[in-house]
Amino acid sequence: MKKILLIGTGGTIASEETGDGLAPEIPASGLLSRLTGVERGIRVESAELLALDSTNITPEHWLMIAGCIKTNYAGYDGFVITHGTDTLAYTAAALSYLVKGSPKPIVLTGAQRPIGVDSTDSRENLRDALLCATSDMPGVSIVFDHKIILGTRAKKTRSKSFSAFESINYPDLGVIRDGAVLPFIRQECGAEPEFSDALDTKVALLKLIPGVKRDVLDFLFERNDAVVIESFGVGGLPETGGFFESVRAWKERGRIAVLTTQVENEGSDLTVYHVGNRLKRELGVLEAYDMTTEAVIAKLMWILAKTKKPTEVERLFYTPVGMDMFPR
Ligand code: ASP
Repeated sequence: MKKILLIGTGGTIASEETGDGLAPEIPASGLLSRLTGVERGIRVESAELLALDSTNITPEHWLMIAGCIKTNYAGYDGFVITHGTDTLAYTAAALSYLVKGSPKPIVLTGAQRPIGVDSTDSRENLRDALLCATSDMPGVSIVFDHKIILGTRAKKTRSKSFSAFESINYPDLGVIRDGAVLPFIRQECGAEPEFSDALDTKVALLKLIPGVKRDVLDFLFERNDAVVIESFGVGGLPETGGFFESVRAWKERGRIAVLTTQVENEGSDLTVYHVGNRLKRELGVLEAYDMTTEAVIAKLMWILAKTKKPTEVERLFYTPVGMDMFPR
């Protein structure tokens, strides 16, 4: 019989109406007791790790979740983490780096409606996630609305519908239909996972808007080891207003700049336009290509905890982990 550890962290799935808005109040054991029929052939134990709306989740919590998996890794066949949907994609990306190459399934799930309401998606998502955790699908994934999505590729694209998540620039790993896991793609994994226990949280994100001022960028560079710039289209920076000079100055001081795009699908290509080409050729800016912003942020935090040496950061950034980017 497969043994699964259910790690509760909060979110809508575990929420109840407080009179002041929904708040996570139901422990992981309480989620299990509201399920019927899933435990046939599965032994599920629960760990009450956190009870947070995922808006309150920080990288410290990512480390706590990874630590809980590490402590319990030998004792279970798979792991299910219940989590709020709002930052679920960030946590999934972070776990993909912190628990790299896991041969056992690490499945994140949540819901758009609390488990206690009639029209909930909680029970189906949790049941599917437990099923996926007993399958031979290795690595970190999100199970939601019957889809299995790679941990490094997920994005919340709908704020209300049950189909809240999409896989960006990569196909779904599989589906769960009529109580069976139908795998399309199997993640690569090692014989043992590689655990990390540190993150450098001095990583910031700037979303460009037309007319943005250079001071915003300077402000972020001053306080961080890496700044991710979500630019427009295939990527570039405004050619007036001193942006190139800012990037040059901060690069010379060893800071890391990564260009990505606000466009959800198909990724960046800095070589195409004059506004992007020089950034890469002359200034050594990194580009995210087909990675999600969530994965870029988590990967930089993970890399910068290992090294601050720009050439090493670049090498690690362009080395695919958990199929987060297509090899270049
Ligand atoms: N605000 C909630 C959270 O992320 C939303 C959800 O779980 O769906 O915790």
